[in-house]
Amino acid sequence: MKTALITGISGQDGAYLAQLLLEKGYHVAGMARRCSNPDQARARLRWLGIADEVEILDGDLTDLSSLLRLLTRVRPDEVYNLGAQSFVALSWQQPILTGEVTGMGVFNLLEAVRLSNLPVRFYQASSSEMFGKAQAPLQSETTPFYPRSPYAVAKLAGHWITVNYRESFGLHASSGILFNHESPLRGMEFVTRKITNAVAGIKLGLNQGLELGNLEATRDWGHARDYVKAMWLMMQQDSPGDYVIATGHSVSIRSFCEIAFRHAGLDYRDHVRVNPAFFRPAEVDCLRGDAAKAHQALGWAPQVGLEALAAEMVEADLHRLSRAA
Ligand code: NDP
Ligand code: GDP
Repeated sequence: MKTALITGISGQDGAYLAQLLLEKGYHVAGMARRCSNPDQARARLRWLGIADEVEILDGDLTDLSSLLRLLTRVRPDEVYNLGAQSFVALSWQQPILTGEVTGMGVFNLLEAVRLSNLPVRFYQASSSEMFGKAQAPLQSETTPFYPRSPYAVAKLAGHWITVNYRESFGLHASSGILFNHESPLRGMEFVTRKITNAVAGIKLGLNQGLELGNLEATRDWGHARDYVKAMWLMMQQDSPGDYVIATGHSVSIRSFCEIAFRHAGLDYRDHVRVNPAFFRPAEVDCLRGDAAKAHQALGWAPQVGLEALAAEMVEADLHRLSRAA
């Protein structure tokens, strides 16, 4: 039986990855920060019905000693580093924390892996945000990076230190450059979930409208369940590498609104208002990924399209809010 250690187990991807690895027969250990409400760490795992099957252990990416202790105790075959301060907008409010967790956290974990001397395979959750002010209309592993937020700068540091540990120490360390991926488990502050939650609230008469920022930015959105499969596939390769994971389609926030509201029989123009307070100091206008390398080398392809993704999210929010009402 293989053992996996997942940092960020309480997040969206941590939950779906844990589910996938359990299905594959892994023992799954997850690292979670100490929290005044320990139940919180398992909320998403509970939603997937797997809360009792995952071992949750205390640790923090900013505390090297906790990482070393965890590695020595769990002795994982695979380490998935999904933990991060992952919200771009917040990274301008808390740039130093973002740098410490999202950037230095990767240094800490890689150093813990190296010092532990365990034959570990390592996955780093890199991000399409690293392309930022995109230098090509379709971004691949060879497109130059141009980060546009403290979050993206921190992710870039995490990406390069992963490449560096691979080249310096021969570590089986892979970096997945994942484009935006969503699901009913996406954090409420991200634009897709903010929209589907509002659609459900409006449909049920719980709230009236929705305030958003820039509606013209475009994103290449996929389903988180598809994207965690790509993480696992990277770890099964004989050689480590970097892979772009994306659908290849990019649509605007406005279009996502249209699709999500339409699914509930609503017209977004009746409910959405632009509030400049949600504009970002520097925007990432267009992201569209070229996952040809992942298709060829990993045999990976996304299964869920945008309409189905939006529909699943709206339905899940309708279900949750109607039960709460
Ligand atoms: P989430 O924000 O849902 O999850 C982030 C996780 O990191 C949470 O479990 C959080 O714990 C944990 N975390 C935060 N700070 C620390 C810390 N100091 N020490 C340990 N853990 C910490 O993100 P996603 O699941 O959506 O994303 C997973 C990873 O992939 C992240 O690194 C993200 O930046 C990256 N990524 C995500 C993309 C996406 O579209 N979803 C796209 C590209 C990359 P807590 O619950 O306690 O806050
Ligand atoms: P990101 O790509 O990781 O920053 O994911 P987000 O879901 O947070 O943002 C995606 C895009 O939606 C960005 O271009 C934001 O500027 C835009 N956007 C517009 N309005 C909002 C909003 O109200 N909240 C968020 N989070 N993003 C918004």
